[in-house]
Amino acid sequence: MKKSESILDTARTLDAMDPDLVIVRHAVAGVPKRIADVLDAPVVNAGDGAHEHPTQALLDMLTVRQVKERLEGLTVTIVGDILHSRVARSNIHGFLKMGAEVRIAAPPPMIPVGVESLGVKVFTSVRDALSGADVVMALRIQHERLTGSYVPSIREYSTTFGINRAKLHYAKDDVIVMHPGPVNRGVELSHELTDDRPSVILDQVRNGVAIRMAVLYLFSGRKSQSGRGEAA
Ligand code: ASP
Repeated sequence: MKKSESILDTARTLDAMDPDLVIVRHAVAGVPKRIADVLDAPVVNAGDGAHEHPTQALLDMLTVRQVKERLEGLTVTIVGDILHSRVARSNIHGFLKMGAEVRIAAPPPMIPVGVESLGVKVFTSVRDALSGADVVMALRIQHERLTGSYVPSIREYSTTFGINRAKLHYAKDDVIVMHPGPVNRGVELSHELTDDRPSVILDQVRNGVAIRMAVLYLFSGRKSQSGRGEAA
């Protein structure tokens, strides 16, 4: 694609190799679906732009279930750049489907217009968003957003939206802290929370291996059954 081949020609080239499974990560939203429409093999979306990252949501839900033994009825608060986050979007769909309450908290320019229609509760106050939360998920802030027009400064962002032990007091006593990585230490998460419990960041990473093995296992072999690829 870097040599300016079209998405469809790339898809046809991949198809000619008769793969059992194709894993696509792309900077543009919707590319895995476009490729899945043409391929016989199942296509796994490994992150498309700011749209979705399904296996990240699966590994996040597995991590929460291991600690809390359920997902239904939990309150999950996602804090940070929701607008540009494929991780947030997939987790919103996943946790809501599993019966959790999902709250989002961010500076107003980082909240997608109309996001309430997905079923989430929207907050601009971290204190309110964390009140009674079982899970806090901090999202990575990209540096170009911090120096652009989304937030006035890094310091302002980390003071208001950065998660630290003091802010965790608003949440439940047994709250867990998550982050999809890589972390900007001291910006969206304090140093201590990046390293220590109740952070479960390395459990998320470890569970990524199991989830992706499961996805590979479940989808390889699907080609002959369905005859057409499908986006997973
Ligand atoms: N760090 C995660 C990953 O590499 C999240 C992301 O890319 O959006 O999959």
